[in-house]
Amino acid sequence: MRVLILGGTREARELADIVTGERGFEIVSSLAGRVRAPVLPVGEVRVGGFGGVGGLRDWLADNAVDAIVDATHPFAGTMSAHAATAAAAAGLPLIHLRRPGWSAQSADRWMRVPDNTAAAGVAAELGDRIFLTIGRQGVGAFAHLTEPWFLIRAIDPPTAALPPRHEILLARGPFTVDDECGLLARHRIEVLVTKDSGGELTAAKLTAARERGVPVVMIDRPPLPSGALTADSVAAARDWLIERRDA
Ligand code: NAP
Repeated sequence: MRVLILGGTREARELADIVTGERGFEIVSSLAGRVRAPVLPVGEVRVGGFGGVGGLRDWLADNAVDAIVDATHPFAGTMSAHAATAAAAAGLPLIHLRRPGWSAQSADRWMRVPDNTAAAGVAAELGDRIFLTIGRQGVGAFAHLTEPWFLIRAIDPPTAALPPRHEILLARGPFTVDDECGLLARHRIEVLVTKDSGGELTAAKLTAARERGVPVVMIDRPPLPSGALTADSVAAARDWLIERRDA
């Protein structure tokens, strides 16, 4: 059974790893090619966009794919939508592997917002020293804010327009709570802005914000395609693949 894993996440790598060890699977992982030095999954990997829904449909047929796991990041909404449309058109089974989002605890001060633009408006109201941990792609939505100072953390340098008062911190998780507390203290951070990515890898910043009483602007996930079948763990996605194989 030939399986396309749409990747770019730790879960996608873990799934490629465990399913490669199962009988009867051929796995090909796909990366968008955004990160300069990506952590690669085991096995066959292709890199770069497919060229929209039509390109993906052609690729699925040319590569004799039998099933698709969309294990992209919860915020890669375009790729998830393309996967759903192309899979439906090709009559292929598709599951979206989505780690659960984060939940606030009683001591947290979280403001949920629908997108980067709304986050910029709310963050500027909450404080003058803002820690942006939304990756490099959405930073442009904050470029018009000339008064606050920003600490911008990303894996690769942002290419979008940036707010004039900022410092860039290039780093890749996981981060510890101690490190995150130190960072918040050192930079006198008053507001944390994050996407609701979920998962353990980058959750320490939320614990640090709680401990230091820093408010959090939490950007909600884009919706999954309607009628989407989902798995909330790597094990559940593997079980679904095994069921398909044995059907
Ligand atoms: P996106 O906005 O949903 O996708 C934009 C375009 O990038 C897609 O239409 C597709 O191009 C291409 N693409 C995306 N994921 C791909 C994949 N796995 N393989 C091949 N092409 C892919 O995606 P994004 O938010 O830019 O994210 C890009 C990649 O980074 C994803 O693989 C995602 O898992 C990873 N990532 C994203 C975030 C985030 O916060 N967005 C965080 C961590 C990792 P075509 O239309 O040409 O096919």
